[in-house]
Amino acid sequence: MMNSIRTRMAPSPTGEIHVGSMATLLKNYAFAKKYGGQFILRIEDTDKEREVAGGVKAIQEIIRRYGLDWDEGPGKDGPYGPYIQSERLEIYQKEVQSLIEKGEAYYCFCSKERLAEVKEQQLASKQPPHYDRHCRHLDPEEAKQRVASGESYVIRLKVPEGEEITFTDLLRGEITFHSDLIDDQVLLKSDGYPTYHLAVVIDDHLMKITHIMRGEEWISSTPKHVLLYKAFGWEVPVFAHIPVFLNPDGKGKMSKRKGVVSAASFLDRGYLPEAMLNFFMILGWAKKDQEEVISLEEYIREFEPSDLSSNSVAFDLQKLNWLNGVYIRKLSLEELQKKIESFVPADFPREKLAQVLPLIQERLVTLGDFTELTKFFYAPISYEANLLLKKSSVEGVREQLEQVIALIKSIKNWSVEALEVGIRNLQEKKDWHKGQFFMMLRIAATGEKATPPLFETMEVLGQDLLLDRLHQALDKIKS
Ligand code: GLU
Repeated sequence: MMNSIRTRMAPSPTGEIHVGSMATLLKNYAFAKKYGGQFILRIEDTDKEREVAGGVKAIQEIIRRYGLDWDEGPGKDGPYGPYIQSERLEIYQKEVQSLIEKGEAYYCFCSKERLAEVKEQQLASKQPPHYDRHCRHLDPEEAKQRVASGESYVIRLKVPEGEEITFTDLLRGEITFHSDLIDDQVLLKSDGYPTYHLAVVIDDHLMKITHIMRGEEWISSTPKHVLLYKAFGWEVPVFAHIPVFLNPDGKGKMSKRKGVVSAASFLDRGYLPEAMLNFFMILGWAKKDQEEVISLEEYIREFEPSDLSSNSVAFDLQKLNWLNGVYIRKLSLEELQKKIESFVPADFPREKLAQVLPLIQERLVTLGDFTELTKFFYAPISYEANLLLKKSSVEGVREQLEQVIALIKSIKNWSVEALEVGIRNLQEKKDWHKGQFFMMLRIAATGEKATPPLFETMEVLGQDLLLDRLHQALDKIKS
């Protein structure tokens, strides 16, 4: 059994992949890998109205950007393809016929107008809207004739009356729904397309999926699926419904506002895929004594769905930021340079990149911080003159600046050592207050209170720019 583990992710190309979906995908991936099984990507594109252009390609791209891949799916044929539902319409149409034959499903000819009327009446009498089963008792022969004569129809599931539907969720144990609360679902739409419920069950069965790990928002669909498995006479796979992420403040479901929570948006902002995956691993993982920094290989070894918490957890941005920093600091300078390339603004002086990176590597929370942390290396700076003065006198600071300018001008071999030795000697000789003097100098050189180490920073600025900045400071305190 364990060699034939098959998991899947079945996204719809209706928008960007949410970080929560990527976290769920990782679990399906890891579980399949752990047991030498297969992870399948299936595209559920039966809702053509909600489909966005380029959606299928975007799904494939984002999975690969996260460094993951599928064993079977679009572009990777396998024995159970095609893996795009819109290419499988005949399969659904054929399979659903078997339900009609067995009396587990029925043709429904109700018009939109009739359904709207029924709904209105139900709402008026404070009933939850549901199909009133008008066509459920039509004579099957008569129904077939109406279909043959070209009448428009849908196919509905004949939900059994008065039954309990129970399934086991790996995180929650047994879950029971009463069949009387389940509508006679549409399985096949009038345009010949299957609904999600029909397609998902047929595909999971035909693709031999053993474990379905998906977002907990699908729990209420699961009894419908279980009914379908039973109606077909198929074995029910194992379910695990993964809790959704809450907002970073722990309040409410992490909202779907476009771009902000998409899996792509985090990479676009300079979170490393490795850090994101690590974050997904530890969020809601109830395994005790587990290190927080964990590689994909370790995770694959350790992962068990039953170790997942069934409670929703907050998308702890602080932890993510910390992890991202950990992963950024692990990079060699060459790797960092490669990864940060797309975040370097066009006007940044390229020749300084290799020098600047070691200075900011420690301070990057995301790669996207590059611009903010390095602006002063090349762009004009501005700051309030009183930052230079603090408690010192204008005269005092002016003397300091003039002396440093003279010193900088005199340096022949431009280097950190020359800067450091010269400036430190000067400070000692003059007995200037150390804290005040170096803070003043940092502000004058960069316009910022917090920067990478001062002498290294000055070296990268270069003699000319540094002198300009010191003169700018002098002008500021004079005026
Ligand atoms: N197509 C569904 C989605 O977009 C799949 C749900 C499931 O995994 O069954 O999430």
